[in-house]
Amino acid sequence: MRTDLAVIGAGPAGLAAALAAAARGLHVTLVDAAPEPGGQFHRQPAAGLRAEHPPHHRRRTWTRLRDGLAASSVRVLAEHHVWCVERETDGTTVHALLGPEQEEPAEVRATAVLLATGGYETVLPFPGWTLPGVLTAGGAQAMLKGGLVVPGRTAVVAGTGPLLLPVATGLASAGVSVAALVESADPRRLARHAGA
Ligand SMILES: Cc1cc2nc3c(=O)[nH]c(=O)nc-3n(C[C@H](O)[C@H](O)[C@H](O)COP(=O)(O)OP(=O)(O)OC[C@H]3O[C@@H](n4cnc5c(N)ncnc54)[C@H](O)[C@@H]3O)c2cc1C
Repeated sequence: MRTDLAVIGAGPAGLAAALAAAARGLHVTLVDAAPEPGGQFHRQPAAGLRAEHPPHHRRRTWTRLRDGLAASSVRVLAEHHVWCVERETDGTTVHALLGPEQEEPAEVRATAVLLATGGYETVLPFPGWTLPGVLTAGGAQAMLKGGLVVPGRTAVVAGTGPLLLPVATGLASAGVSVAALVESADPRRLARHAGA
């Protein structure tokens, strides 16, 4: 399969980039390992749950991206796990493995490749971090959004950065009692994001 631009990652960044490039006339292929576009921010509940109202914020932004994608010429390749991008004389080949088992190979040949594969949580080990009931903030958020499950009845949300806020509010609105929100950096940094 040949394309002008292969965008790897269908989170907010990759979706916006793919739509912008397609609107300017490029043939765009959007490749993502997940079954649905959305990335971490717009992660959708698993299809089998048949949830009508995914519990994520910025619903209007998601609707705009989702509808924009459906109306666009962007070709979406879901459940394509990219494992290698190879530079060649006449372009670039994106190598992926298909489906949850990641067994069947697939290739996308592109003139240009845009990486929008997102960020990762940095987890600093501390005594007790492997105990049952201890999980990362992003992990709790993924469970809540993707599985519609909460990690317990009471939670302490601890770490640093603005992700703590949507995690704490997401847990609280799902019925979890948030006993404390613990920010290790200067609390004024966190306060800057309080409005959002
Ligand atoms: C676990 C977790 C949960 C988060 N939850 C929130 C939240 O609730 N609210 C918030 O504001 N921020 C959250 N964040 C921060 C998040 O990174 C940003 O809000 C936002 O989603 C970043 O957008 P993005 O498009 O750059 O990347 P992402 O949204 O991370 O999207 C990257 C996409 O790239 C795909 N991808 C990555 N590697 C490959 C590969 N090799 N092959 C194919 N596809 C690949 C992924 O499947 C994903 O869909 C979370 C971060 C993490 C790690």
